[in-house]
Amino acid sequence: MKGAAILWAAAFGAVSWFGYQLWKMEGAETAAGMEMTVRRETAGAAEGSCIALTFDDGPHPVYTPMLLDGLKERGVKASFFLLGDSIDGNEELVKRMAEEGHLIGNHTFSHVRISKISTEEAVREIEETNEKLRNIVGEMPEYVRPPYGEWTEELGERLSMEPVFWDVDPLDWKVLDSAAVVNHVVKNCGDGSIVLLHDSYETTVRAALEIIDTLGQRGYTFVTADELLVD
Ligand SMILES: [Zn+2]
Repeated sequence: MKGAAILWAAAFGAVSWFGYQLWKMEGAETAAGMEMTVRRETAGAAEGSCIALTFDDGPHPVYTPMLLDGLKERGVKASFFLLGDSIDGNEELVKRMAEEGHLIGNHTFSHVRISKISTEEAVREIEETNEKLRNIVGEMPEYVRPPYGEWTEELGERLSMEPVFWDVDPLDWKVLDSAAVVNHVVKNCGDGSIVLLHDSYETTVRAALEIIDTLGQRGYTFVTADELLVD
């Protein structure tokens, strides 16, 4: 009997020791996991980090109001570069953008490739759009988002307008996938980033609002593009 008791005690001891080791290992893993989580959460933006979300090719009669609602709910300002061609019938939307504090810029009249046309034609494309916008909001736009990022110094001088380029492009119009757009932007954004998006797709509107929620939690502030261009 005595021998059995000793054996039993030894077995119990071994199991307990083994259990303790397991517990230690799990504990260590949990601690490491927690550390990673904490690090990820604090790997946010430095204080005062700003991002500008910019939307081209609008206004769109369905998706632009959806986006404006989401921006308003979150108290976020964005920048819209509008096509002269898409303004007729959407005047109320343009007014709403201005009233709600968004930046309104020019994206040419018919989405021209500036490198493929004459300076005169490009000036006409942009001035015609400026005129339409001025008639609606009472102010001449100061910023232009050249389609495909094609711009010339001569145009800048002729029009006294500032071109707005971008550094983060998730190709939202091509992938049409909210999760992919959110992922790309969240991974590639930093302080001062200008993100290129298009408010003509539902997937983009959903992505933009998720980007705001995610990066907002990490400490980023969303500003209009002009605020990032001031030297
Ligand atoms: Zn465009």
